[in-house]
Amino acid sequence: MARLPGARQIARMTPQEIDETAARLEAEIAELSSEHGRTEQLFGQTTGVAAAFAASEFQMQLLQGSPRDQARKIDELRACVRQLDGEHDRRGGWARVVLTVDGDVTLAHRTLDCPAATGLERVRLPQWSGRPVDEIAEAAAGRACAACFPDLPYHLRARATRLLTPAESEQRQVTGVAPAASAAAPPLAFTNVEGQPLVTPDGQVLRTVDAAVDEYARHAAQIRWHDAHGRRSASAIEMQQVLCLYLLEAIAAHRGTSLEAQEQELERHVEARYRRDWG
Ligand SMILES: [Zn+2]
Repeated sequence: MARLPGARQIARMTPQEIDETAARLEAEIAELSSEHGRTEQLFGQTTGVAAAFAASEFQMQLLQGSPRDQARKIDELRACVRQLDGEHDRRGGWARVVLTVDGDVTLAHRTLDCPAATGLERVRLPQWSGRPVDEIAEAAAGRACAACFPDLPYHLRARATRLLTPAESEQRQVTGVAPAASAAAPPLAFTNVEGQPLVTPDGQVLRTVDAAVDEYARHAAQIRWHDAHGRRSASAIEMQQVLCLYLLEAIAAHRGTSLEAQEQELERHVEARYRRDWG
């Protein structure tokens, strides 16, 4: 375990350094906590055996020392995380990006206190700490939490996110699959209204209007089902509605119709998809 930073050192750290340290310490706490549980169990068994063989009190103390040390270390680490969080509050706060995972929906938040993040597994992305909120919102794109980034335009919400969990980043390095189309990609016959590739939040480029219609029907049918059965949070449905609007807009522009006309025209696709996937 590296030496813990003191109050004076913390006061000199950048927001990014503070949050990186906090994330590292939280990982250490998690590791030590599981190790602590195992050791305690092991020592419980061992000391039971030792007692049965009438070990001296000194020997017993030696045996029990390890779980006690671990518990003390965990307390020290927790105190340091509290100090780091305290420094964040003392400076009036800064944006701290955290990802939450809820089933197949991952959302990016700009604060650890977001109500939509309550009770969910969190991944801190300290490399974004203290960056301007607009910049974070744009990077969050398809993952932007509606509560944390209420002003992000919907066409940006439907873009592939650049805020990845460490596991996703690692996977992307291995598979080489980037979430957004590269600038060197050949020109597309079908694009969004800005002439950019039409990218779904999971990084798939929709190259034809048929692919976009299919994707639209899939999401619209899913929304219909979740709306009727209340199986999904309001913010997750809202994100999907934003995506549907983005797809619909591109399809309508491509076919030269209004949004309303296009929505009506696609209704039979949505109905068919609803019956197929959810009927
Ligand atoms: Zn949020």
